[in-house]
Formats: sequence, C-alpha cells, structure tokens
Amino acid sequence: MAIYDTSPHPSQDAVSWSPGHSGIRGNERADTLAKAAAAQRPFIGSTIAWAKANAKAKALEQWVKQWKESAKTSPSALSLTHPPSYKLAKFHRTFTGNRRTYSHTIQASLGHAFVGEYFSCFVPRLPSSCPCDDTLLQTRAHVLTECPLHEHARHILREASSSLSLDFLLGTQKGLAAIAKFIQHSTAFRRHD
Ligand SMILES: [Zn+2]
Repeated sequence: MAIYDTSPHPSQDAVSWSPGHSGIRGNERADTLAKAAAAQRPFIGSTIAWAKANAKAKALEQWVKQWKESAKTSPSALSLTHPPSYKLAKFHRTFTGNRRTYSHTIQASLGHAFVGEYFSCFVPRLPSSCPCDDTLLQTRAHVLTECPLHEHARHILREASSSLSLDFLLGTQKGLAAIAKFIQHSTAFRRHD
C-alpha cells in the first residue's frame, strides 16, 4: 500500500532499503516498484515546491530591481513608495467599501482615473477640461485638492492631511483610506457617460 502511494512519505525509504527480499512472495514486485518510486522522487513533492518557490523569489528579485532602477516620475510613483512585495499592503487587505469605490481609488492612485489629464493621453475623444471650468485641464491634483464640485467632501481629505499633501494622500494607508471615502461621498473620478 505504501508503494502504491506516489506522494512523498517516510515508508518509501523503508521500502527501498529493505534487505533480503528474494524468495518471499511479492517481494520481486515490491523491489521493482520501490526502484521506480525512488527514480521518480526528484520530480515529486518537495522538489516541485522548491522550484516554484525559487521561481517566485527570482521573479520578485527582478521586480524589486526594476522598481529601484525606474524613474520615480510617473503618476503612480506617489503611491508605489515601497519596493514590490507579494504581500498586499494594509489598505488593500483591510478595505471594506464597495467595488466601484475601490477600483476608482486604485485608478486614482495609479494615475489612471477618469480625469482629463488621463483622457488627453489615452482617450482623446473625451474632454480633458473639468466640468467646473472649460478652460482648465482636469488633473488628479485638481480633483483632489481644488475642484469646487467636490468641496462638500473635501473635509474627509483634510482630516487625513490638513495641507492636502498628495504625497501623504496617495502614499500612505491613512491617505488612501481618505481618498476612498472622498470618492464614495462625491462624484470624483467617475466616468461621465
Ligand atoms: Zn473642477
């Protein structure tokens, strides 16, 4: 029974080391199976787990290297202030709001929100100005810190950062939580169809 079980288990070694098998019924077959199991051992169990862990560690190493070498000038740089990790940041682990608020918060933090400055780069058919002023480019900073259309909800951001620092709002757990609440209580970063 132990031999038929192909998963790694202590009896494999016991079986392959059993001496003096010859002459006992079934032992030739047991020897054959034990040898086959021993030959397979490098491809089962811990070896695959090790290969997976190793590949994952190498991928992360490469990712951290790219993060360190990349210019910190993109709109996402304010949010991606820590080296990449496989562990979710606290904001993402603990967020309990609705899906729309969550996705709009992520989009805003990465600079891919529904705002004019994004449209001007990626969706030129949509207006790049803000509904509050036709002549104004609607930037993420404008929506978060200045736009009068969302002033009623801005106290939420001020509670997290009285100076409305984008570094703080986009780069910390407390700031992101405030942005999520701000988005939930306003029409900021919503798609206007
Ligand atoms: Zn505006």
